Amino acid sequence: MTGFDSFLVVDWSASAAPAPARPSKDAIWLGLVQGGTPQDPLYCRTRTEAEARIADIIAGERAAGRRLLVGFDFPFGYPIGTARRITGSDDPLALWDWLEARITDSDTGANNRFDVAEAMNARFDDPGPFWGKTHADRWPGIPYRKAGIDYTEIAEKRACDVAAKAASSCFQLCFPPTVGSQMLMGLPMLSRLRRQHGARAWPFDDWQDAPTVLAEIWPGLIESAVTSALGAGAPIRDAVQVTLLARALSRLPAADLNAMMTDLPQAAQQEAWILGTGHESTLNDLAGDDAPPAPPPLRDDCFAMPAGVDWTPVDDALATLRAGLHPVVRPAHCNVPDACGRILSAPAIARRANPPTPNSAVDGYGFAHDSLPPGDPVLPLVSGRAAAGVPYDGTVPPGHAIRILTGAAVPAGVDTVILEEDTRTGAGQLAFRAGIKRGANTRKAGEDVDAGAELLPKGRVLTPADLALLAATGLGVVEVFERLRVAVISTGDELIEAGGAANPGQIYDANRPMLLAQIRAWGLEAVDMGRIPDDRAALRAALDDAASRADVILTSGGASAGDEDHVSALLSEAGAMQQWRIALKPGRPLALGLWQGAPVFGLPGNPVAALVCTLIFARPALGLLAGAGWQEPQVFHVPAAFEKSKKPGRREYLRARIRDGRAEVFASEGSGRISGLSWAEGLVELPDAAATIQAGDPVRYYPFGSFAF
Ligand code: AMP
Ligand code: MG
Repeated sequence: MTGFDSFLVVDWSASAAPAPARPSKDAIWLGLVQGGTPQDPLYCRTRTEAEARIADIIAGERAAGRRLLVGFDFPFGYPIGTARRITGSDDPLALWDWLEARITDSDTGANNRFDVAEAMNARFDDPGPFWGKTHADRWPGIPYRKAGIDYTEIAEKRACDVAAKAASSCFQLCFPPTVGSQMLMGLPMLSRLRRQHGARAWPFDDWQDAPTVLAEIWPGLIESAVTSALGAGAPIRDAVQVTLLARALSRLPAADLNAMMTDLPQAAQQEAWILGTGHESTLNDLAGDDAPPAPPPLRDDCFAMPAGVDWTPVDDALATLRAGLHPVVRPAHCNVPDACGRILSAPAIARRANPPTPNSAVDGYGFAHDSLPPGDPVLPLVSGRAAAGVPYDGTVPPGHAIRILTGAAVPAGVDTVILEEDTRTGAGQLAFRAGIKRGANTRKAGEDVDAGAELLPKGRVLTPADLALLAATGLGVVEVFERLRVAVISTGDELIEAGGAANPGQIYDANRPMLLAQIRAWGLEAVDMGRIPDDRAALRAALDDAASRADVILTSGGASAGDEDHVSALLSEAGAMQQWRIALKPGRPLALGLWQGAPVFGLPGNPVAALVCTLIFARPALGLLAGAGWQEPQVFHVPAAFEKSKKPGRREYLRARIRDGRAEVFASEGSGRISGLSWAEGLVELPDAAATIQAGDPVRYYPFGSFAF
């Protein structure tokens, strides 16, 4: 399952004349959120103009590698049975083709829709089902009014119209709402978009992996958000509808949208379905202005280093990142089962105590401690029992006991439970030794968590155990940040794709698979931008594209100050670049900058240096940008299994692993040795100052797993 990058919402029209030149209502409006960025609504005066624009947007998004969902506000299918009467087949797409072959339209809007509707009515025995016309005395095969049409063989409304409480019917051609006419003038266009532009129609086609998907939507689902936007002074209703609906769809978590598109009743395969039906309140929330605002942009000087410093110590570089960056992702919602690895955007609050009621911790017998007789008790057993999920409704009288199982709510009249193994039963009686404590073997309500308690703070990266805690305390949905999108670009003329045939001068791109996998392992969304040659125009275009599709950009290669170091050259040109000369081994200069507001980490090309710089610098920065806060990696002090002396001036990271409780390091420090990266299970950190390490001396060791958030 992949999500969509862009969302286009189309408000269609059946008008027989061009709309006024000045943007006005009842024309065709297009609302677009492109790669996460909302665009101004587009106004089209005619269907011809609109169809050309939609086709352009489809081609443009596809060329940019963005997956596009296009929503249209008219039904994609008729009630069950209609298509068969007309084409002889239940396939709704055959009816699209049938209409495309018959409907004529023109630049002015003049069209033959009533003639075609009359021909469709002729395929039914009784009057209808299509009704309503502009001239009472024309098209005798079309009833002027609905009265007298029998909708038993064919229903007047589809299952989704009923579910969405839509007032309109596919068969009404005239008098608002003229949905029937909009369909007749819209389905031929869909048929062309499908055949000429390779778009897939949801839910009829195989749409799951298609780059462009056409879907039926309906602004009526977000009526309350539209009404409040209009109340706040927004001008044209249609423009507001398409804007808000595109916005709501773009803010839906991809998994939720996918579920809305997949969980459909059977009828949808013939009749189509209105996307989002049954999820009106979610869509209204997301459409509204009080939906999460975009976070503020990063400041141009966020990567500025103190002037006059030649080689920046690692800690100063980290402090600069920590001070200059903040979360750049919006809050969103996520279902608890899907939330592992997501980052809370607000504290999670328990809706219910755990346990919700006092319950038994063991299988045994319950009674009131106060009512125990002196000496070894023998108590009559009440009939019935208390089990988990099946409580005992009555009250256990004083001096009586009841059978109770683990997890069962403690019944009224009981405050203590004795373990089954410590008792004997017979003839309706229970016997045990004196001395049990009041409250034994019971769990108090809320002894783990009270209702209303803060379970987890904002910024928490959710673990599997957290999901258990959230679920147990009644949470089905949590507020999380949208996933940070991280684009990865490899640069260099010498690079080719792994697995391909290589000339002697060429090397395989090793950084990109490594960096993409690392980003995914951190629970972030990796956006693969491919390999770019050492060519300034190509790299500029790639950075533009990456900035529109991702929140952060990682490049590798070309980050120094040489002739072919185009990443640093372009970032300097953009005016927001800082060349960081960090006192670090391995790691040549790091180029940091903003490209169209997106932070760029220009990593060294060397794979060893690229990974070390990613773990040491990019990781905490990405955590901050993603909403998880600044997270120090967990360090362990372990005895060295090696000897080494180093000069002062720069911090060093050695590829290392623990064997027999001691840190051993890779035999070669050569920064081209990718085998050593793979051999290692972590890094040993040697201080900025001079150091002489003897075997057995404690050293700082970071397992790779420490570099997480
Ligand atoms: P650069 O930083 O562009 O000067 O590259 C430094 C070294 O890293 C050169 O030997 C490059 O060939 C190598 N290199 C650059 N990018 C990659 C990559 N994606 N995969 C493997 N090696 C690379
Ligand atoms: Mg290079």
